[in-house]
Amino acid sequence: MAKKRPQRTCIACRQTGEKRQLIRLVRTPEGRVLVDETGKRSGRGAYLCADPACWRTALKERLIGRALRVTPSPQDLVLLREYAEALEAKQAKESSQT
Ligand SMILES: [Zn+2]
Repeated sequence: MAKKRPQRTCIACRQTGEKRQLIRLVRTPEGRVLVDETGKRSGRGAYLCADPACWRTALKERLIGRALRVTPSPQDLVLLREYAEALEAKQAKESSQT
């Protein structure tokens, strides 16, 4: 058994990052909610799979704000939706190539 290490769990589907790629979201000290692609920003973090379905669930059910204990501003929500749409476009492109 591996030693215990920080578990990263998708806030939408509750799967851990062992098997799936997770994207970090962060609440900045200014109270903004951003996608943290480097995973290095300081602040409270939450994770979502790189799966548009999880992003849709998280946005629809306001899971991001709940996980980060902040209400994302309308501007931040727009950016999060755009990120979800970009993931969706990427996934659609990848699946059309197979
Ligand atoms: Zn997920």
